[in-house]
Amino acid sequence: MSDEREAAVVETAPKQLLIGDAWRDGQGGATLPVEDPSTGETLCDVADATPADGVAALDAAVAAQADWAATAPRRRSEILHDAYALMMERQDDLALLMTLEMGKPLPEAKGEVAYAAEFMRWFAEEAVRIHGDYATAPDGQSRFVVMRQPVGPTLLITPWNFPMAMGGRKIGPAIAAGCTMVIKPASQTPLSMLALAEILREVGLPDGVLNVVTTSKSGGVMEPLIRDGRARKLSFTGSTGVGRMLLEQSADKVLRTSMELGGNAPFVVFDDADLDAAIDGAMLAKMRNIGEACTAANRFYVQTGVVDEFSSRLAERMGALRVGRGTEDGVDVGPLIDDAGRHKVKSLVADAVDQGAEVLTGGEEMSGAGYFYPPTVLTGVPMAARMQREEIFGPVAPITVFDNEDEVVAEANDTEFGLVSYLYTSNLDRGLRVSERLEAGMVGLNRGIVSNPAAPFGGVKQSGLGREGGRLGIEEFLEVKYVNITVP
Ligand code: NAP
Repeated sequence: MSDEREAAVVETAPKQLLIGDAWRDGQGGATLPVEDPSTGETLCDVADATPADGVAALDAAVAAQADWAATAPRRRSEILHDAYALMMERQDDLALLMTLEMGKPLPEAKGEVAYAAEFMRWFAEEAVRIHGDYATAPDGQSRFVVMRQPVGPTLLITPWNFPMAMGGRKIGPAIAAGCTMVIKPASQTPLSMLALAEILREVGLPDGVLNVVTTSKSGGVMEPLIRDGRARKLSFTGSTGVGRMLLEQSADKVLRTSMELGGNAPFVVFDDADLDAAIDGAMLAKMRNIGEACTAANRFYVQTGVVDEFSSRLAERMGALRVGRGTEDGVDVGPLIDDAGRHKVKSLVADAVDQGAEVLTGGEEMSGAGYFYPPTVLTGVPMAARMQREEIFGPVAPITVFDNEDEVVAEANDTEFGLVSYLYTSNLDRGLRVSERLEAGMVGLNRGIVSNPAAPFGGVKQSGLGREGGRLGIEEFLEVKYVNITVP
């Protein structure tokens, strides 16, 4: 990857706020640095919105709402189709921008651009399939017409780990449903979202439908908008702690909310599993996105008969991964997002080792610039270790042995989270039975990845509320209204 190409991609990327009909600086002209986590150096600066900018963005979304809701579904669909096509046309540049600001290896960034684009395509198809109902009242005296209408202006907040896909998963259905938006990407990765916003403008999304604010003061800018009352919905993806706080703020004006929060996924391997498939699945579930995924396998439970073989084979695969800058050829594992993220991973590993875990591979410090951490496998990790409860958000696989089904189901469910669980067995009866018993919004049965734009993504317990993607995804942006009609 040439330095010139990297510089050109950053140079040409939008860096201002998108409010109404124009890109503009924040009031007062403050800026916010964007860092390359593989070097720790500043890539560029973007506008740093003030609370007044936030209000201006909401004003623009409110002003655009009525016309946008009245825009023909076919037109909304065409905009989304065109956005899909343009995103795919620019996939390489968008991926490079994403790798530079977030760190993931380029092939994974390309995959994320395609994944984000698929949400545009999926919801382009859903935009023209918003249906209602017609029914006769049980007493025969009236008729019910049930319609679905856009919920209204929405507030969208997204995290840094999937800087484009988490936006696409909200923007796609909001456009399809006829909602206007104010979106606030994570301050560490604003460039991918700004680039996506520019694409939507280029394909003809009307002014004011999508407004983007980047800010170093996320609470200061967003809380007034949440409490304002004109936005009717908040859709958030991020940590459970922040989600909980935003739910409290949303209660003030009783906003509709969608919450995609943290996870602590168990990855369960039974003795009868196809071990080759389980190892491949484990690598995917653990190492996708450098382990910085809400869906990342956080705890490996492996049955007694295969635990030794599984552990040594996983350690061998993990130890063979190449760590480096995501722009370099052949790199499998990029840097963590920042020093705080790396420090957390280090302290979780130290805690597990203090409590008796054995390091099979990795675990050592990496010198030099950037926030790198080596792929690490631990065995004999006791249930009391912090990493059994907390999201690791890094390339560390802790393995614990189990004896029987009841025991592993109890341990897998012993968490406040319930986003996804992975399960490997060649016994279909057991696969279905355990899938039913696992407290999770999603289960990967003999699969290390569950995300798919055509499927309902989301969690139970403190992993969230609502679903994104699939047929349910658009429902989050629609209100149901029913008209009761007298029939003489
Ligand atoms: P985070 O700290 O909760 O931040 C997420 C977003 O919320 C960022 O845009 C952040 O802005 C913003 N934010 C933080 N404090 C806020 C406040 N007081 N008011 C309004 N907005 C606020 O999470 P993260 O560290 O970026 O992301 C990692 C977390 O996201 C993990 O827990 C992961 O599991 C979860 N996640 C869940 C899903 C899912 O679908 N369930 C998907 C991806 C990630 P700043 O950047 O300015 O802090």
